[in-house]
Amino acid sequence: MNPLRALIIEDSEDDTTLLLRELRRGGYEPEYARVETAEAMSTELSTHTWDIVFSDFSMPHFNAFDALALLCSTELDLPFIVVSGTIGEDRAVIAMKSGAHDYILKGNLKRLVPAVERELREARNREERRKADIAIHRLAYTDTVTNLPNRARFRELVQEAVLAGQREQRPIALLLTDLNGFKDVNDTLGHDIGDSLLQQVGLRLRSKLFAPDVVARLGGDEFGILLPQLAVCRDVRHVIKKIHDCLEAPFMIQGIPIAVETSIGVALMPEHGDNADILMQRADIAMYRAKQMASNYVVYANEFNRYSPERLGLMAELRDAIEQNQLLLHFQPKLELKTGRILSTEALVRWQHPRLGMLPPDKFILPAEQTGLIGPLTHWVLMDALKCHLNLHRDGFQSQVAVNLSARSLHDPHLPKLVADALDANGVKPDQLMLEVTESAIVLDPKRAEENLVALSNMGVSLSIDDFGTGYTSLASIKRLPVNEIKIDKSLVTNMLTDKKDAMIVRTVIEFGHNFGLAVVAEGVETQEVLDALAALGCDKVQGYFISKPQTFKQLQNWLSTCAWKTGGFDATI
Ligand code: C2E
Ligand code: MG
Ligand code: MG
Repeated sequence: MNPLRALIIEDSEDDTTLLLRELRRGGYEPEYARVETAEAMSTELSTHTWDIVFSDFSMPHFNAFDALALLCSTELDLPFIVVSGTIGEDRAVIAMKSGAHDYILKGNLKRLVPAVERELREARNREERRKADIAIHRLAYTDTVTNLPNRARFRELVQEAVLAGQREQRPIALLLTDLNGFKDVNDTLGHDIGDSLLQQVGLRLRSKLFAPDVVARLGGDEFGILLPQLAVCRDVRHVIKKIHDCLEAPFMIQGIPIAVETSIGVALMPEHGDNADILMQRADIAMYRAKQMASNYVVYANEFNRYSPERLGLMAELRDAIEQNQLLLHFQPKLELKTGRILSTEALVRWQHPRLGMLPPDKFILPAEQTGLIGPLTHWVLMDALKCHLNLHRDGFQSQVAVNLSARSLHDPHLPKLVADALDANGVKPDQLMLEVTESAIVLDPKRAEENLVALSNMGVSLSIDDFGTGYTSLASIKRLPVNEIKIDKSLVTNMLTDKKDAMIVRTVIEFGHNFGLAVVAEGVETQEVLDALAALGCDKVQGYFISKPQTFKQLQNWLSTCAWKTGGFDATI
């Protein structure tokens, strides 16, 4: 017998007996209460747990519509089945439209048990979906180390505060801070202590600030603080003093005292910007200034952005560098775990600077975006990557080549044409090109990104979401996008064997990725152990130093002919 907690809304004891008898005949052991007024129903709902509600249609003091309305006013999601004498088809329809799950005639009780089974099953499914949604939402909006809001949630809260501040003509302040020397703590004392330190810093900050203020962990050792209810801008200085004071006493972690120093960057609305992204960017610039000047805090000033001489100099040079072929690509292979085969490589750009040596992309991609040089840069990378791809193909290595796109390029309406022209010029088929876009780039302008992604996908180009899991997109929201692959960020992968939370995120992303029909790639695989763990979780592809570091095209050609893995075999012809 299956236990069934049934709330029965019924004025007739005889009808209740018949209902119970039918349930028992169907294999249920009902534990029930019978009520016939709204008050009694309300009491039962709030004091006991129920699996299902049966309701007569009309009673002297109550009826099914009111009972249904009462149920809907609670958070409970219980199957509600009307069990009644003949009430006429239209009223039965109205009952169903108001949210009843089924309507059973008292004269035809043999329909009861199948209806109960079906509705219980569906309620269980709804519950599971709800739990999955909560898990996804949590994953997407909470930092798992500190339980504080993460960057994605922080950005939303800043944007909400911006709108409220504008409506109410009130300033808001945004503070960014990171912990000087945190990397040393992590490297010398280990990740557990590093994590405990982050948690305790989060707790101290939270406890010193007012309730409407927001404390978030934005990633690494970086915290964001939002002050949405400032009376006047200069109040921000009191808050900064409070923050420095509260972090002054060393943190005791596993008996080790750890002193923390911070530099704070501040941006204010309306002075420094009127949207979340600009304010965050400017607070970030101010924070770097504070670090450079070894100062406790720096408030953003417009000239920081305009007159950074190093940046301007570098950008002037980049323009020539593209023309003079100072850029070069390194390639990093992706390994398919199921077949043990290298089926694709990713192109990563570098700048062989005549004076400064080899510059990594993070030194010049963002400034290139801000100065409009990203268009020519992306074009150069695409052309060169496709040219190298063709050469590999001629060597007999059939593969796919992946190129990274920056946010600006992703939002550029000319992107699909630029890609189509580059494919045409090199005579490469679209399915041999994969474009990697970061989730943060999509979030900046999801509508425009989606238009471009759809156009590229319609052309036959494969799409990958890079650096996934660092906390921008919810898994649910990428379901709509025509992407083929997600790449779990290396920060999660590298630590997955030592950090339970990272391991949990990796597992969840693989599971949900597969549920949405996407291939899942893990980047940053540095050891055999991590590769084995990913294989056990069903991850599709891996990339990282363990397989190969990014290498020049020449090195790649050699490597492909001598490496331990099977190579090529991508199913496409040029
Ligand atoms: P990404 O696309 O996520 O590339 C992965 C980065 O992780 C690369 O850094 C790679 O060298 C590094 N990496 C790979 N395997 C491992 C590993 O096992 N351990 C560790 N610790 N790191 C690993 P890189 O080359 O410095 O590139 C950084 C980022 O710059 C790239 O991240 C990508 O977002 C961007 N980027 C690179 N080339 C281009 C480009 O042509 N255009 C644009 N827009 N962005 C690019
Ligand atoms: Mg990439
Ligand atoms: Mg990545």
